Amino acid sequence: MGSMMKAAVFVAPGRIELAEKPIPDVGPNDALIRITTTTICGTDVHILKGEYPVAKGLTVGHEPVGVIEKLGSAVRGYHEGQRVLAGAICPSFSSYAAQDGVPSQDGSYLIESGKCACHGYKATAGWRFGNMIDGTQAEYVLVPDAQANLAPIPDGLTDEQVLMCPDIMSTGFKGAENANIRLGDTVVVFAQGPIGLCATAGARLLGATTIIAVDGNDHRLGIARVMGADVTLNFRNCDVVDEVMKLTGGRGADSSIEALGTQATFESALKVLKPGGTLSSLGVYSSDLTIPLGAFAAGLGDHRINTALCPGGKERMRRLMNVLAAERLDLGVLVTHKYALDDIVAAYDLFANQRDGVLKIAIKP
Ligand SMILES: [Zn+2]
Repeated sequence: MGSMMKAAVFVAPGRIELAEKPIPDVGPNDALIRITTTTICGTDVHILKGEYPVAKGLTVGHEPVGVIEKLGSAVRGYHEGQRVLAGAICPSFSSYAAQDGVPSQDGSYLIESGKCACHGYKATAGWRFGNMIDGTQAEYVLVPDAQANLAPIPDGLTDEQVLMCPDIMSTGFKGAENANIRLGDTVVVFAQGPIGLCATAGARLLGATTIIAVDGNDHRLGIARVMGADVTLNFRNCDVVDEVMKLTGGRGADSSIEALGTQATFESALKVLKPGGTLSSLGVYSSDLTIPLGAFAAGLGDHRINTALCPGGKERMRRLMNVLAAERLDLGVLVTHKYALDDIVAAYDLFANQRDGVLKIAIKP
Protein backbone atom coordinates (compact mmCIF):
# COMPACT_ATOMS: atom_id res chain seq x y z
CA MET A 1 0.00 0.00 0.00
CA GLY A 2 1.41 3.39 -1.01
CA SER A 3 0.46 6.66 0.65
CA MET A 4 -1.87 7.95 -2.09
CA MET A 5 -5.12 6.66 -3.54
CA LYS A 6 -7.54 7.43 -6.36
CA ALA A 7 -10.85 8.99 -5.37
CA ALA A 8 -13.82 10.54 -7.18
CA VAL A 9 -14.21 14.07 -5.79
CA PHE A 10 -16.78 16.83 -6.19
CA VAL A 11 -15.03 19.72 -7.99
CA ALA A 12 -17.90 22.06 -8.96
CA PRO A 13 -21.51 21.67 -10.12
CA GLY A 14 -21.41 19.40 -13.18
CA ARG A 15 -17.93 18.08 -12.32
CA ILE A 16 -17.06 14.96 -10.34
CA GLU A 17 -13.54 13.89 -11.28
CA LEU A 18 -10.93 11.35 -10.33
CA ALA A 19 -8.16 12.77 -8.11
CA GLU A 20 -5.18 11.57 -6.07
CA LYS A 21 -5.63 11.93 -2.32
CA PRO A 22 -3.67 10.71 0.69
CA ILE A 23 -4.84 7.43 2.20
CA PRO A 24 -6.35 8.53 5.54
CA ASP A 25 -4.76 7.84 8.93
CA VAL A 26 -6.62 5.35 11.14
CA GLY A 27 -7.77 6.65 14.54
CA PRO A 28 -8.53 4.33 17.47
CA ASN A 29 -12.23 3.95 16.63
CA ASP A 30 -11.85 3.82 12.83
CA ALA A 31 -11.31 1.11 10.28
CA LEU A 32 -9.68 1.57 6.89
CA ILE A 33 -11.53 -0.41 4.22
CA ARG A 34 -10.03 -1.29 0.86
CA ILE A 35 -13.01 -0.89 -1.44
CA THR A 36 -13.65 -3.89 -3.70
CA THR A 37 -17.03 -2.68 -5.03
CA THR A 38 -19.04 0.50 -4.67
CA THR A 39 -21.77 2.18 -6.70
CA ILE A 40 -23.41 5.46 -7.69
CA CYS A 41 -26.67 6.56 -6.05
CA GLY A 42 -29.34 8.96 -7.30
CA THR A 43 -28.26 11.24 -4.44
CA ASP A 44 -24.75 11.41 -5.97
CA VAL A 45 -26.34 12.74 -9.15
CA HIS A 46 -28.01 15.50 -7.10
CA ILE A 47 -24.51 16.30 -5.75
CA LEU A 48 -23.02 16.25 -9.27
CA LYS A 49 -25.66 18.69 -10.50
CA GLY A 50 -25.07 21.00 -7.54
CA GLU A 51 -28.63 20.42 -6.23
CA TYR A 52 -27.30 19.00 -2.96
CA PRO A 53 -24.28 20.99 -1.73
CA VAL A 54 -21.13 19.27 -0.44
CA ALA A 55 -17.65 20.66 0.18
CA LYS A 56 -15.35 21.04 -2.82
CA GLY A 57 -12.79 18.25 -2.87
CA LEU A 58 -14.97 15.84 -0.89
CA THR A 59 -14.83 12.22 -2.03
CA VAL A 60 -18.37 11.20 -3.01
CA GLY A 61 -20.22 7.89 -2.67
CA HIS A 62 -21.78 6.13 0.30
CA GLU A 63 -22.11 2.43 -0.57
CA PRO A 64 -18.99 0.53 0.57
CA VAL A 65 -18.20 -3.16 0.08
CA GLY A 66 -14.63 -4.20 0.78
CA VAL A 67 -11.94 -5.72 2.95
CA ILE A 68 -10.54 -4.46 6.25
CA GLU A 69 -7.08 -3.05 5.51
CA LYS A 70 -6.33 -1.62 8.96
CA LEU A 71 -8.25 -1.61 12.25
CA GLY A 72 -8.16 1.12 14.88
CA SER A 73 -6.61 0.09 18.20
CA ALA A 74 -9.96 0.21 20.05
CA VAL A 75 -11.97 -1.85 17.53
CA ARG A 76 -12.53 -5.43 18.72
CA GLY A 77 -13.88 -8.61 17.17
CA TYR A 78 -12.77 -8.10 13.58
CA HIS A 79 -9.60 -8.98 11.71
CA GLU A 80 -7.65 -7.37 8.91
CA GLY A 81 -8.43 -9.04 5.58
CA GLN A 82 -12.05 -9.70 6.60
CA ARG A 83 -14.78 -8.96 4.02
CA VAL A 84 -17.15 -6.33 5.35
CA LEU A 85 -19.56 -3.64 4.35
CA ALA A 86 -20.78 -0.60 6.21
CA GLY A 87 -24.09 1.17 5.98
CA ALA A 88 -24.38 4.39 3.99
CA ILE A 89 -25.44 5.88 7.32
CA CYS A 90 -22.77 5.56 10.04
CA PRO A 91 -24.18 6.72 13.39
CA SER A 92 -22.10 6.64 16.56
CA PHE A 93 -24.97 4.89 18.40
CA SER A 94 -23.86 6.62 21.59
CA SER A 95 -25.77 9.91 21.32
CA TYR A 96 -29.11 10.89 22.84
CA ALA A 97 -30.59 10.88 19.33
CA ALA A 98 -29.36 7.34 18.64
CA GLN A 99 -30.58 6.05 21.99
CA ASP A 100 -33.91 7.71 21.32
CA GLY A 101 -34.36 5.42 18.32
CA VAL A 102 -33.31 7.77 15.51
CA PRO A 103 -29.62 6.97 14.92
CA SER A 104 -29.83 8.20 11.31
CA GLN A 105 -30.38 11.70 12.75
CA ASP A 106 -27.23 11.44 14.91
CA GLY A 107 -24.91 14.44 14.63
CA SER A 108 -23.03 13.86 17.86
CA TYR A 109 -19.67 13.68 16.06
CA LEU A 110 -20.20 17.39 15.18
CA ILE A 111 -20.52 18.57 18.79
CA GLU A 112 -16.84 19.52 19.15
CA SER A 113 -16.91 21.64 16.00
CA GLY A 114 -19.99 23.46 17.28
CA LYS A 115 -22.08 22.25 14.35
CA CYS A 116 -24.33 20.22 16.66
CA ALA A 117 -25.58 20.94 20.17
CA CYS A 118 -24.71 18.48 22.94
CA HIS A 119 -27.94 16.48 22.56
CA GLY A 120 -26.68 15.14 19.22
CA TYR A 121 -29.91 15.54 17.23
CA LYS A 122 -29.18 16.84 13.74
CA ALA A 123 -31.45 15.97 10.84
CA THR A 124 -29.80 13.58 8.32
CA ALA A 125 -26.37 13.89 10.00
CA GLY A 126 -26.05 10.12 10.43
CA TRP A 127 -25.23 10.19 6.72
CA ARG A 128 -21.51 10.88 6.78
CA PHE A 129 -19.91 9.16 3.72
CA GLY A 130 -19.79 11.49 0.75
CA ASN A 131 -21.75 14.10 2.67
CA MET A 132 -19.88 15.14 5.82
CA ILE A 133 -16.71 13.02 5.40
CA ASP A 134 -14.85 11.44 2.47
CA GLY A 135 -16.94 8.74 0.80
CA THR A 136 -16.60 5.40 -0.88
CA GLN A 137 -15.93 6.06 -4.57
CA ALA A 138 -12.24 5.59 -3.91
CA GLU A 139 -9.63 2.89 -3.40
CA TYR A 140 -9.96 3.23 0.39
CA VAL A 141 -12.49 4.67 2.82
CA LEU A 142 -12.23 5.36 6.53
CA VAL A 143 -15.23 3.97 8.47
CA PRO A 144 -15.90 6.02 11.63
CA ASP A 145 -17.22 4.33 14.80
CA ALA A 146 -16.20 1.06 13.19
CA GLN A 147 -17.27 -1.07 16.16
CA ALA A 148 -20.89 -0.10 15.49
CA ASN A 149 -20.77 0.06 11.72
CA LEU A 150 -18.64 -2.77 10.27
CA ALA A 151 -20.81 -5.67 9.13
CA PRO A 152 -19.06 -8.96 8.17
CA ILE A 153 -20.26 -10.42 4.84
CA PRO A 154 -21.38 -14.06 5.08
CA ASP A 155 -19.38 -16.56 3.00
CA GLY A 156 -21.11 -17.29 -0.26
CA LEU A 157 -22.49 -13.82 -0.90
CA THR A 158 -20.76 -11.93 -3.71
CA ASP A 159 -20.01 -8.20 -3.73
CA GLU A 160 -22.75 -7.70 -6.33
CA GLN A 161 -25.31 -9.53 -4.18
CA VAL A 162 -24.67 -7.34 -1.12
CA LEU A 163 -24.01 -4.07 -2.96
CA MET A 164 -27.59 -2.88 -2.29
CA CYS A 165 -27.37 -3.40 1.49
CA PRO A 166 -25.64 -0.15 2.55
CA ASP A 167 -28.34 2.10 1.08
CA ILE A 168 -30.84 0.90 -1.54
CA MET A 169 -32.14 -2.21 0.24
CA SER A 170 -32.01 -0.63 3.69
CA THR A 171 -33.91 2.44 2.47
CA GLY A 172 -36.44 0.54 0.36
CA PHE A 173 -37.18 -1.92 3.18
CA LYS A 174 -37.54 0.97 5.64
CA GLY A 175 -40.17 2.40 3.30
CA ALA A 176 -42.10 -0.88 3.54
CA GLU A 177 -41.59 -1.10 7.32
CA ASN A 178 -42.80 2.50 7.74
CA ALA A 179 -45.93 1.66 5.72
CA ASN A 180 -47.18 -0.44 8.68
CA ILE A 181 -47.90 -3.35 6.32
CA ARG A 182 -50.06 -6.19 7.63
CA LEU A 183 -50.80 -9.60 6.09
CA GLY A 184 -53.24 -9.23 3.24
CA ASP A 185 -52.68 -5.52 2.67
CA THR A 186 -52.92 -3.58 -0.56
CA VAL A 187 -49.86 -1.36 -1.05
CA VAL A 188 -49.11 1.10 -3.86
CA VAL A 189 -45.43 1.85 -4.53
CA PHE A 190 -44.76 5.05 -6.49
CA ALA A 191 -41.58 4.99 -8.65
CA GLN A 192 -39.65 1.83 -9.46
CA GLY A 193 -36.07 3.00 -9.42
CA PRO A 194 -33.69 0.86 -7.36
CA ILE A 195 -35.14 2.07 -4.02
CA GLY A 196 -38.76 1.74 -5.15
CA LEU A 197 -38.01 -1.78 -6.42
CA CYS A 198 -36.62 -2.68 -2.98
CA ALA A 199 -39.72 -1.17 -1.35
CA THR A 200 -41.84 -3.40 -3.59
CA ALA A 201 -39.78 -6.44 -2.55
CA GLY A 202 -40.04 -5.40 1.12
CA ALA A 203 -43.83 -5.05 0.89
CA ARG A 204 -44.00 -8.59 -0.49
CA LEU A 205 -41.80 -9.99 2.30
CA LEU A 206 -43.90 -8.23 4.95
CA GLY A 207 -47.06 -9.93 3.71
CA ALA A 208 -48.86 -7.47 1.44
CA THR A 209 -50.90 -9.48 -1.07
CA THR A 210 -51.83 -6.81 -3.59
CA ILE A 211 -48.79 -4.75 -4.51
CA ILE A 212 -49.37 -2.12 -7.16
CA ALA A 213 -46.17 -0.73 -8.68
CA VAL A 214 -46.29 2.62 -10.48
CA ASP A 215 -43.72 4.06 -12.90
CA GLY A 216 -43.50 5.64 -16.34
CA ASN A 217 -40.93 3.14 -17.64
CA ASP A 218 -42.22 -0.27 -18.81
CA HIS A 219 -38.79 -1.89 -18.43
CA ARG A 220 -38.71 -0.95 -14.74
CA LEU A 221 -42.32 -2.12 -14.32
CA GLY A 222 -41.22 -5.50 -15.70
CA ILE A 223 -38.51 -5.74 -13.03
CA ALA A 224 -41.11 -4.67 -10.43
CA ARG A 225 -43.02 -7.87 -11.26
CA VAL A 226 -39.85 -9.91 -10.59
CA MET A 227 -39.47 -8.05 -7.25
CA GLY A 228 -43.03 -8.99 -6.22
CA ALA A 229 -45.52 -6.54 -7.74
CA ASP A 230 -48.92 -8.06 -8.53
CA VAL A 231 -50.15 -5.17 -10.67
CA THR A 232 -48.13 -2.59 -12.59
CA LEU A 233 -49.44 0.80 -13.71
CA ASN A 234 -47.70 3.06 -16.22
CA PHE A 235 -48.80 6.56 -15.24
CA ARG A 236 -48.35 7.68 -18.86
CA ASN A 237 -51.21 5.39 -19.95
CA CYS A 238 -53.72 5.65 -17.09
CA ASP A 239 -54.98 7.70 -14.16
CA VAL A 240 -53.26 5.92 -11.29
CA VAL A 241 -55.62 7.13 -8.54
CA ASP A 242 -58.69 6.01 -10.55
CA GLU A 243 -57.10 2.62 -11.24
CA VAL A 244 -56.25 2.01 -7.58
CA MET A 245 -59.81 2.91 -6.57
CA LYS A 246 -61.15 0.46 -9.17
CA LEU A 247 -58.77 -2.29 -8.00
CA THR A 248 -59.83 -1.82 -4.37
CA GLY A 249 -63.59 -1.49 -4.99
CA GLY A 250 -63.43 2.18 -4.03
CA ARG A 251 -61.93 1.40 -0.64
CA GLY A 252 -58.44 2.76 -1.28
CA ALA A 253 -55.08 1.22 -0.49
CA ASP A 254 -54.00 0.33 3.05
CA SER A 255 -50.72 2.09 2.48
CA SER A 256 -48.59 3.78 -0.13
CA ILE A 257 -44.85 4.23 -0.50
CA GLU A 258 -43.42 7.30 -2.22
CA ALA A 259 -39.93 6.63 -3.66
CA LEU A 260 -39.19 9.63 -5.87
CA GLY A 261 -39.59 12.96 -4.08
CA THR A 262 -41.96 15.08 -6.19
CA GLN A 263 -45.22 16.92 -5.49
CA ALA A 264 -47.07 14.75 -8.04
CA THR A 265 -46.03 11.41 -6.53
CA PHE A 266 -46.54 12.60 -2.94
CA GLU A 267 -50.00 13.86 -3.79
CA SER A 268 -50.99 10.66 -5.59
CA ALA A 269 -49.62 8.60 -2.70
CA LEU A 270 -52.06 10.44 -0.41
CA LYS A 271 -54.99 10.25 -2.83
CA VAL A 272 -54.84 6.45 -3.19
CA LEU A 273 -55.12 5.84 0.57
CA LYS A 274 -58.16 4.63 2.47
CA PRO A 275 -59.09 6.74 5.52
CA GLY A 276 -56.70 5.60 8.25
CA GLY A 277 -54.10 4.58 5.67
CA THR A 278 -50.36 5.21 5.91
CA LEU A 279 -48.21 7.16 3.49
CA SER A 280 -44.57 6.13 3.79
CA SER A 281 -42.34 8.72 2.16
CA LEU A 282 -38.77 7.92 1.04
CA GLY A 283 -38.19 10.55 -1.65
CA VAL A 284 -35.74 13.43 -1.29
CA TYR A 285 -37.79 16.56 -2.01
CA SER A 286 -36.28 19.73 -3.40
CA SER A 287 -39.13 22.20 -2.79
CA ASP A 288 -42.06 22.79 -0.42
CA LEU A 289 -44.88 20.25 -0.57
CA THR A 290 -48.57 21.07 -0.75
CA ILE A 291 -51.03 18.69 0.88
CA PRO A 292 -54.30 18.38 -1.10
CA LEU A 293 -57.17 19.19 1.23
CA GLY A 294 -59.66 16.60 -0.06
CA ALA A 295 -57.26 13.67 0.06
CA PHE A 296 -56.18 14.81 3.52
CA ALA A 297 -59.86 14.82 4.61
CA ALA A 298 -59.27 18.35 5.93
CA GLY A 299 -56.91 16.85 8.49
CA LEU A 300 -59.53 14.48 9.96
CA GLY A 301 -58.78 11.28 8.02
CA ASP A 302 -56.68 9.36 10.57
CA HIS A 303 -53.92 9.27 7.98
CA ARG A 304 -50.34 8.69 9.00
CA ILE A 305 -47.45 10.19 7.05
CA ASN A 306 -44.06 8.68 7.89
CA THR A 307 -40.68 9.85 6.62
CA ALA A 308 -37.30 8.16 6.93
CA LEU A 309 -33.63 8.30 6.17
CA CYS A 310 -31.89 5.01 5.44
CA PRO A 311 -31.12 3.01 8.63
CA GLY A 312 -27.48 2.06 9.17
CA GLY A 313 -25.41 0.08 11.65
CA LYS A 314 -24.10 -3.49 11.72
CA GLU A 315 -27.27 -5.07 13.10
CA ARG A 316 -29.38 -3.59 10.27
CA MET A 317 -26.79 -4.78 7.75
CA ARG A 318 -26.69 -8.27 9.32
CA ARG A 319 -30.46 -8.63 8.94
CA LEU A 320 -30.44 -7.44 5.34
CA MET A 321 -27.66 -9.89 4.46
CA ASN A 322 -29.66 -12.66 6.20
CA VAL A 323 -32.54 -12.00 3.81
CA LEU A 324 -30.13 -12.43 0.88
CA ALA A 325 -28.29 -15.45 2.32
CA ALA A 326 -31.64 -17.19 2.95
CA GLU A 327 -32.47 -16.59 -0.73
CA ARG A 328 -35.67 -14.73 0.04
CA LEU A 329 -34.58 -12.14 -2.49
CA ASP A 330 -31.92 -11.71 -5.18
CA LEU A 331 -30.87 -8.11 -5.74
CA GLY A 332 -27.99 -9.02 -8.04
CA VAL A 333 -30.45 -8.39 -10.91
CA LEU A 334 -30.37 -4.68 -10.08
CA VAL A 335 -26.65 -4.51 -10.91
CA THR A 336 -26.89 -3.91 -14.66
CA HIS A 337 -23.43 -2.49 -15.44
CA LYS A 338 -19.82 -2.74 -14.30
CA TYR A 339 -17.17 0.04 -14.56
CA ALA A 340 -13.62 0.52 -13.32
CA LEU A 341 -13.14 3.40 -10.85
CA ASP A 342 -10.84 4.89 -13.53
CA ASP A 343 -13.91 5.27 -15.77
CA ILE A 344 -16.24 6.73 -13.15
CA VAL A 345 -16.92 9.93 -15.11
CA ALA A 346 -18.39 7.81 -17.92
CA ALA A 347 -20.32 5.78 -15.34
CA TYR A 348 -21.88 8.99 -13.96
CA ASP A 349 -22.84 10.03 -17.47
CA LEU A 350 -24.58 6.70 -18.13
CA PHE A 351 -26.32 6.65 -14.74
CA ALA A 352 -27.41 10.30 -14.65
CA ASN A 353 -28.95 10.01 -18.11
CA GLN A 354 -30.49 6.59 -17.39
CA ARG A 355 -29.19 5.12 -20.63
CA ASP A 356 -29.07 1.47 -21.64
CA GLY A 357 -31.59 0.24 -19.02
CA VAL A 358 -29.20 1.09 -16.19
CA LEU A 359 -30.34 0.44 -12.60
CA LYS A 360 -27.10 0.19 -10.58
CA ILE A 361 -23.47 0.20 -11.66
CA ALA A 362 -20.82 -1.86 -9.85
CA ILE A 363 -17.73 0.37 -9.59
CA LYS A 364 -14.47 -1.56 -9.13
CA PRO A 365 -11.29 0.23 -7.94
ZN1 LIG B 1 -27.94 6.76 -1.68
